[in-house]
Amino acid sequence: MTSTGIVELSHKLNPAVQTYPGDTPFSCYPLGTSEKDGYNTRFMTMGSHCGTHIDAPFHFFADGKTIDQIPLSDLIAPAVIVDLSHNNLKARQKITWADLAVYADRFRVGKIVLINTGWSKYWGTEAYYSHPFFARDVAENLFTLGITVVGIDTLNPDETPYEGVGGEDGFGFHNVILGGGGIIAENLTNLSALVEGDDWVVSLIPLNLEGSDGSPIRAFALRKS
Ligand SMILES: [Zn+2]
Repeated sequence: MTSTGIVELSHKLNPAVQTYPGDTPFSCYPLGTSEKDGYNTRFMTMGSHCGTHIDAPFHFFADGKTIDQIPLSDLIAPAVIVDLSHNNLKARQKITWADLAVYADRFRVGKIVLINTGWSKYWGTEAYYSHPFFARDVAENLFTLGITVVGIDTLNPDETPYEGVGGEDGFGFHNVILGGGGIIAENLTNLSALVEGDDWVVSLIPLNLEGSDGSPIRAFALRKS
């Protein structure tokens, strides 16, 4: 944490950024240059789910809210930090509600839940695709307790199929949260810097992309006091 009490929760966007298998890679290169034009500008391409980003309900549901329709007030809120980083989670381990139930009395309407699996340490490596993932019952219980915004430090809250392995469970977590009009933040990092129980406000604000299913975000946490 910096002396300002702000914690960076986003990965840097650069050409090495890891994407969901098959997704558009990030690219960014100079257009104008100070030598030629007197100023620097860049041309960039990226998918709507590039790097640290949020999913809007429209990602899975044709009649769901798009990025520009999500109230900003939904995306700046007090956080509940769920720390599973000491559970020694294995590749492709399924996390169930039993792993989160101890936090249940802290899950309330208006809170953003951030789940620290510890897997962000594999960002940029093959192992990042084999992240632990969440059983559908985790999303169902969170939603029942009033949680509609959930952030994770993996590529996907559901299992990511990669090179013929995994994905049999489908998109249960996405379906429950986005189907209920909620939001999922993916590829967060540095969640271990948020000490459990501390008073954090988290910001997951996207670009104002009209009609979009997702958007990169600059995620950060701010200590309340
Ligand atoms: Zn996404």
